[in-house]
Amino acid sequence: MYFFWRSFWDKIWPRACISCACELISAECTLCSTCLDEVLLARMPEQSTLPLLDSLDCWLDFDTRAIQRLMHQLKFGQSPEIALRLGQLYAATHDAPHVDALIPAPLSWRRKWSRGYNQSEWLVRGLSEIWGLPIWDVLNKEHRPPQATLGLEARSASAQGAYRLKKRIPSGARVQLWDDTLTTGATLQAMAETLYHGGALEVHGATLARAD
Ligand SMILES: [Zn+2]
Repeated sequence: MYFFWRSFWDKIWPRACISCACELISAECTLCSTCLDEVLLARMPEQSTLPLLDSLDCWLDFDTRAIQRLMHQLKFGQSPEIALRLGQLYAATHDAPHVDALIPAPLSWRRKWSRGYNQSEWLVRGLSEIWGLPIWDVLNKEHRPPQATLGLEARSASAQGAYRLKKRIPSGARVQLWDDTLTTGATLQAMAETLYHGGALEVHGATLARAD
């Protein structure tokens, strides 16, 4: 019945794939099956690590065209629903982590205001829908120059001290911290440091994509 009504409405208001803009058929949701296959084939072949984090999972390879296109749309194409859909897909294909909550990487108020949304918030919403884990919106970020404009050392210096806890977290908390893309890891490490200072026992990191 659901697909009957969906194909009925699709004829009146056709839906488009959020990645390639082709028309979706009734069984498809947000991404067409070609783009979905490309996403699922772009998994990172090996695990990543970062010194401060208890574990790190970077899901997709940013060096594939399909993922670059999606991440560009996600950040600059006014398409936060990409993050929601990718979060749902990740959670549907991975076991829920043994943590108390999911924490999205914050944007500075200036960046969030100019983009209109924080993609990491939409991403953890998709994860939380499937896993049933709570979301803790506990981090604040000061405005700093965009990381992409900085060299390696400058990125690390810029990330340090940029994050503050805006709410207390329970002492001994175990959390999973989510960002959209891992580059040098400076941002995730700086956020993890803030969470440990605030009393977290375990900070696990995860990102949708990894760029080398
Ligand atoms: Zn598509």
